[in-house]
Amino acid sequence: MGDFDSDRKGTGTAEWAEVNENICRGCQNMCLYCYAAYNANRFGQRDRENWGREELTKRAEIQAYPAKNGVIMFPSSHDITPFNLDAYIRVAKLILEKGNKLLIVSKPRLECVEKMILEFELYRKQILFRFTMGTVQESVSLLWEPGAPLPRERRECLALAYGRGFDTSVSIEPMLEGFQMTEILVEWVRPFVSKTIWIGKMNKPQLRVPKTHAYLVDAILKMQSDDQIMNLYEWFKDDGIIRWKDSIKTVVELHKSRVDHHYGNRCSCGKPLPKINASIEAKLDMGASCPHAEIPVEKGKW
Ligand code: SF4
Repeated sequence: MGDFDSDRKGTGTAEWAEVNENICRGCQNMCLYCYAAYNANRFGQRDRENWGREELTKRAEIQAYPAKNGVIMFPSSHDITPFNLDAYIRVAKLILEKGNKLLIVSKPRLECVEKMILEFELYRKQILFRFTMGTVQESVSLLWEPGAPLPRERRECLALAYGRGFDTSVSIEPMLEGFQMTEILVEWVRPFVSKTIWIGKMNKPQLRVPKTHAYLVDAILKMQSDDQIMNLYEWFKDDGIIRWKDSIKTVVELHKSRVDHHYGNRCSCGKPLPKINASIEAKLDMGASCPHAEIPVEKGKW
């Protein structure tokens, strides 16, 4: 059964873990793209504007936890905050005491990470901290994740966990920017990552982000166009620390299969295939026989 960073089928949290655990409803981070907030509203459990109110669920009272196969992701539909920290640590210890593998996913707060590191020291080898960061920019973070810690605090948490000998990973899902800013983010966190950096697009923003923020959705769709994603993929595709979420793999497969279909693995002129990007696809659209071919430009057309 799966280890941290095994190749898993499926999408979303299923790409990371066999089991999800949660002990809280609501989340003070109030991310605009939150799938849990969207679902709670959709099923009549909680209005979107009240998602920031946190309350512990019955699951926070469990007194024992079984040994399970695979990785347990805890939490998956809330965060670890000063409100639920003590309950979180108690339940996490029940999980760890049975020898389970625990994936801790969070937009981390320093005061919470400091305490977890002390409390979980004995179980260090069973834990992977995966911290979510979509941008290096405070202004962007505040727009999309108004109640969450700022990027600098999250990076401090990452450095702290790494420095204390815990395995660390970063989730750049959702990306809050395009190709170049995501590259900068990867290099900003890389020194403190012992395992992997996962990258994924924002999923279903037109559906999940409140309509009042449609202008942000328009911007993110432009920043995460297929062309931007293919540039990002080409930049990092041979980088061993990078793992791609399903949303990126889908784009890559779509574009690769289109080019492979036309040209095969090697170009008819004998050269290796160049980077797959929008200009290659434009050549296909214009009927080029080879991606290295010059397309004659009609005077005055461009
Ligand atoms: S941290 Fe996760 S659960 Fe909390 S609001 Fe953001 S997306 Fe939702």
